[in-house]
Amino acid sequence: MKSTEPSTQTSQINIQAINAFNDNYIWAITNKEMVTLVDPGDADVCIKFIEAENLILNAILITHHHADHTGGIEALVEYCQQKQWSLSVYGPANENIPRCDVQLKENDTVTLSVFDISFNIIDLPGHTAGHIAYFADNDTTPILFCGDTLFSAGCGRIFEGTPIQMFTSLSKLMNLPEQTHVYCTHEYTQANIAFALTVDPTNEALINYDVKVNELRANGHATIPSTIKQEKQINPFLRCHEQNIQISAQKFSPDTTISTLDTFTTIRRWKDQF
Ligand code: ZN
Ligand code: FE
Repeated sequence: MKSTEPSTQTSQINIQAINAFNDNYIWAITNKEMVTLVDPGDADVCIKFIEAENLILNAILITHHHADHTGGIEALVEYCQQKQWSLSVYGPANENIPRCDVQLKENDTVTLSVFDISFNIIDLPGHTAGHIAYFADNDTTPILFCGDTLFSAGCGRIFEGTPIQMFTSLSKLMNLPEQTHVYCTHEYTQANIAFALTVDPTNEALINYDVKVNELRANGHATIPSTIKQEKQINPFLRCHEQNIQISAQKFSPDTTISTLDTFTTIRRWKDQF
């Protein structure tokens, strides 16, 4: 890898949200000097952040090709050229990402030495055909950047893949350590909970989460990151093995068989019309 960054070794990283568009989060991994951006759909808000925090941009991580995740790449590459900063753009091997330097697929590793962090790549087809996630299996706090695949209390729409692909992708994420911090790219949590409560109305953890989320939003706070543990308790798309959700799916669509995959397929279709 190109690496002109100072070889600062620190485990003291921060992850900050840069708000973009209506409800996107561009995640900034920072230490005192450097920043790596995840899914920078809008360059202007990123450049404002970089200048306000007086940081050097060293890498961009892309999860999938949609414009709200990639639209800022070109301008950020040019910005770094003007500043004479060495920038690496990482993205999925199976999608067309502008200015992509390193094409990634399942089990590849991305090491960001300035942050002393390594990500394992997980293929997550479903929302788009080549969608990937970045997973850092840290000691105390594993970190996941999962783009538009797993949202808090929901999941991405299936645009390019099949229900079984999306189901399999979400199952991979469910098997990550429970304490993993889940950084998705949209603040969709309240709308997702409204649907989740329709499908799974007696879920106590979900009812409590609704209260917590409403409070966070009323005070202008992000509901992200979530955790894998939390999502297993409240996210209907990770709970299709539960009888309550299978019964709801059958009420919505009487053809649904009592299988986890069929239930998933039905509630994903239901959410599309909700
Ligand atoms: Zn997307
Ligand atoms: Fe998106």
